[in-house]
Amino acid sequence: MADTNNDKSSEFHDLIIIGAGPAGLAAGLYAARDKQDVVLIEKLSPGGQVLTTDLVENYPGFPEGISGFELMDSIRKQAERFGLKILSHEVQGVDFKSPVKHLSLAYGSMEARSVIVATGAQPRKLGIEGEELLIGKGVSYCGTCDGPFYRDADVAVIGGGDTAVQEAVFLTRFASRVYVIHRRDELRATKIIQERAFANEKVEFVWDTIPLTIEGETGVERLRLRNVKTSEENTLKIEGVFVLVGTRPVTEFLKDAVDLDDQGFINVNRRQETNVPGIFAAGDVTSETPRQIATAVGEGVTAVLNAEEYLEDQA
Ligand code: NAP
Repeated sequence: MADTNNDKSSEFHDLIIIGAGPAGLAAGLYAARDKQDVVLIEKLSPGGQVLTTDLVENYPGFPEGISGFELMDSIRKQAERFGLKILSHEVQGVDFKSPVKHLSLAYGSMEARSVIVATGAQPRKLGIEGEELLIGKGVSYCGTCDGPFYRDADVAVIGGGDTAVQEAVFLTRFASRVYVIHRRDELRATKIIQERAFANEKVEFVWDTIPLTIEGETGVERLRLRNVKTSEENTLKIEGVFVLVGTRPVTEFLKDAVDLDDQGFINVNRRQETNVPGIFAAGDVTSETPRQIATAVGEGVTAVLNAEEYLEDQA
């Protein structure tokens, strides 16, 4: 478990890793095993977005698949076996201008010679009327987490990517009907995931359609939709809306300390180096990553090996 001792106001380490998803934990595992002076800082509990995945089928080594929780818990335990310290802190700001990198925390600050940013991404919102108001009252960003609340109900999933289509199939375990609302007439999801959804009688696709408003008094009751080709509008009676339209990077705390792309993801090279010497980034927070658990792990390992080289060069 994360150490919740917040009395660490002036700690200094050779390496600080921010974020305990697959990239951060893999980096931490290597650094701890290499006997580096390293700590990993995590805002919530270790595991990252993978914790919300019911079954991971494409991480090598698990022929039957493995639950997201089990996978991340195993990686955490493996890292802690080598002595990785995971601290519970939220990084609120950074100063990377001098060779000693400075992190501002809610309680105090920490400093390091090198930093790996592996803060991942969070679900994107639609920004439509009713969404914010009905979060937790029928609007959800995680089917795996909230699916069991919708036994025998009709629900809608917004999005056509891997997450939306995979979660739609998962939701059929509970819901009687799952409408997948997609803004085009072709899914973005990979073929194998598409095929499972097409073969599931409880999944109904609503093509070329965008949500306009989410309506309801004390909970979600209706979804107002518009067909983007015909401009026709209609209302779908549902009890839950799962918004699964991709992710946005967790980089607000960086301000302009490192180079970001136009969507706020961190630009890195193949060594996972940012434009600032000694600052590396890995996983979903970076630009143009394939956003897979396996690639996040690989990027975390690449980042830490290059961070270790950097530390050696600077010693
Ligand atoms: P994604 O691939 O970016 O897909 C987002 C989906 O939401 C797209 O279909 C997009 O439509 C739609 N969308 C975006 N903004 C929208 C809006 N404002 N209104 C309506 N629809 C909107 O995101 P993801 O599905 O979360 O996947 C993220 C990454 O994780 C991907 O690289 C994916 O392969 C990976 N992933 C992999 C697995 C797996 O391997 N099992 C599982 C989950 C995720 P358009 O298609 O029209 O752009």
